[in-house]
Amino acid sequence: MKLKVLVDNNTFIDMYYLAEPAVSYYIEDNDDAILFDTGYSDVFLRNAEKMGIDLNKVSHIVLSHGHNDHSGGLPYLKREGKKFKLVAHPSAFVKREDDTGLSIGSPLNEEAIRKCFDLSAQEDPYRISEHLLFLGQIRKKLPFEKSYAIGKKYVEGTALEDRIEDDSALVYKGKDGLFIITGCSHAGICSIIEQAKEVCGENKILGVIGGFHLFDVDERLHKTIDYFEENGIRSLYPCHCVSLAAKIEMGKRLPIHEVGVGLELEIE
Ligand SMILES: [Zn+2]
Ligand SMILES: [Zn+2]
Repeated sequence: MKLKVLVDNNTFIDMYYLAEPAVSYYIEDNDDAILFDTGYSDVFLRNAEKMGIDLNKVSHIVLSHGHNDHSGGLPYLKREGKKFKLVAHPSAFVKREDDTGLSIGSPLNEEAIRKCFDLSAQEDPYRISEHLLFLGQIRKKLPFEKSYAIGKKYVEGTALEDRIEDDSALVYKGKDGLFIITGCSHAGICSIIEQAKEVCGENKILGVIGGFHLFDVDERLHKTIDYFEENGIRSLYPCHCVSLAAKIEMGKRLPIHEVGVGLELEIE
């Protein structure tokens, strides 16, 4: 698998790409090309063009969840004629607001999504390509990864607290173990890894890239670091929604790497 970071909060010096506080990765698994998340704006398209990546080749767009820093690029992928196949949790396109009333959900609602894309709504694990699986809803939660709400979601006009049940991730099953690709890990990064292990029937974890949604140096972070260590995870690429303080804490015990637009990973 080849993974190229199209969008991240950070860019590397001397590469001249654009950054925004969002996520988008371009992934190749043999002959299949996959776009994981679309960032917040058209920055993913502009960076892909500079990198010489032809996004018309993409067979699947996969959404980690519906927040607009992951779904905000979707309107720029509307094509006349060709409809991209879009894989997401069934509740990814609900209307969402933060506590100030600011819209933080997908810019396209489900009706608009179905008009522009070939939507494949998946609550359960779903195969994307030979080695890549969408994990679906993360069902089993580790006790230290308690769920939390971010703002509100609207279900049939009723405002409910939003526990982001649509949050999911991708897993790549390589010859030596699993590589996990996450958006924000609202479901809990360790719970996501547990689900990937169960779905793939494989316990070896080669690495993880993405947002882990860890900001405070607290008990949850320390239990997460314990979990990473116990699982012998060889390479960690925490980014997007991981604070500097959390990265420093992880780096004391784990092999962590910097992430930025233009980073390219190759996993067998
Ligand atoms: Zn999010
Ligand atoms: Zn995010």
